[in-house]
Amino acid sequence: MKSKAQSPFRVNLHELPRRAGEMRTYQLQFQLEEAIGTAMLAIRKGEGMEIEFKAEAVSDGVLISGNVKSSAKGECGRCLDEINWKVDEEFRELFLYESRKVDDEEEDELFAMDGDIAEIETAIRDAVVLTMPINPLCKEDCKGLCSECGERWENLAPDHTHEKTDPRWSGLAGWQPK
Ligand SMILES: [Zn+2]
Ligand SMILES: [Zn+2]
Repeated sequence: MKSKAQSPFRVNLHELPRRAGEMRTYQLQFQLEEAIGTAMLAIRKGEGMEIEFKAEAVSDGVLISGNVKSSAKGECGRCLDEINWKVDEEFRELFLYESRKVDDEEEDELFAMDGDIAEIETAIRDAVVLTMPINPLCKEDCKGLCSECGERWENLAPDHTHEKTDPRWSGLAGWQPK
């Protein structure tokens, strides 16, 4: 397993002067080492990811805002068909300079730089996962599968049914009144 220091989500911002108003743009391109997503839909391990962002020095840290592109795969929640989901999301996060980080419970939620490094993985994961549908569908009006035979409703006649004859009556099926 690679050490955390090599994570592609750790971005070195040493080129960005720590003077409010300074700005640099960055582009990252790499293959994911760990899937991002939900049980139903995820950008899988090995999938390419493209991140473009600008880092803007503000008084207490660096404001990072940008876009992440990739593609996720999953299964339709109704018919279990494979789904290809395009990921193209915006993200934005403030990373405080270490020196500005106060040990305060309220600030626990905030991100802080690690020296010149901003670890953007959480911001990316949140941007990707929070926009994923909880119940992904292959298409809006997917009719799903017949619960009896597992065939997709699209391929079945509208009057498709599985009428079950009660076995107790089957002996009477050919019964004719005399
Ligand atoms: Zn479907
Ligand atoms: Zn059926």
